[in-house]
Amino acid sequence: MRPGIGLLLCVGLALGTHLSATTVRTAGPEDRALTRCPESPLPDREAPLSDESRATASRGSVASLIEDRIAGWPSGLVRGADGSLVSVFGFGPTEAREILFPVTRERSLPLGYAPGDLAGIAPGVLIRRVVLADLEHLLAAVPRADQRLTIISGYRSYANQTVLFEARVRQRLAQANGDLSIEEARERANGGTALPGHSQHQLGTALDLSTPELGPQIFRGFAQTIAGQWLREHAGSYGFVFPYTEEGRERTRYIAEPWHIRWLGKELAALLVADCYLGSSEVVVDDYLEALERLLG
Ligand SMILES: [Zn+2]
Repeated sequence: MRPGIGLLLCVGLALGTHLSATTVRTAGPEDRALTRCPESPLPDREAPLSDESRATASRGSVASLIEDRIAGWPSGLVRGADGSLVSVFGFGPTEAREILFPVTRERSLPLGYAPGDLAGIAPGVLIRRVVLADLEHLLAAVPRADQRLTIISGYRSYANQTVLFEARVRQRLAQANGDLSIEEARERANGGTALPGHSQHQLGTALDLSTPELGPQIFRGFAQTIAGQWLREHAGSYGFVFPYTEEGRERTRYIAEPWHIRWLGKELAALLVADCYLGSSEVVVDDYLEALERLLG
């Protein structure tokens, strides 16, 4: 089995010493309802984006509103007495530029990027050490034993992403029985699988999770499982966010991935949760990372 495919299919049922509780408990039926999101200062969450001109015109104002939110967030940009930046959402400025780097369909990581502190957390699964404590706490916080969260995938190198992406393209071509050009197949594959260099998994801070009832694969049905619902509600408290939401599809141009979480640290995740990013068609996680990058200059 090729490395990229192996990573995707690998089920993290036997975590190493760092994370002794891969099998963790999820919330019961009484916890299924998501808590109401507090009032967000950002635009109407239900506002349709069908009016192209309105959407385009509003992007600038939304972007500046996000910059204002970041600038006004107490633990966002912390400066020393001399005015120099000392902390960015809990990270040192240099560390922040790496961990909070916006990786999108349009934006790739620097050529040759690979994180330097990878650790094995399950057979074939690596993740950055800076993520381990919050990941362990997230998994340990699941309150019930009859549902479990499992780790499907973590870090993927550029080479592994290349293998995965090309496999997806071949799948599309095979399914189409000759009715698809290679360009069309690549475009369709890119809707659900990032191009090499554009995958958040290359950061070493993104994970794909599942639950045993779904088997060793990722499924959209994860969002309807008790484990998936618990994760959606609680991931933010442990510094993890969902970059690819159903409501944000027009913005990210990726399918919704309720199983895919990216670690940004608790401080920035708290701002995103406070701004009701989940369920928003106006803002997605990358809007904040791009705004932060502009502010850092
Ligand atoms: Zn993923």
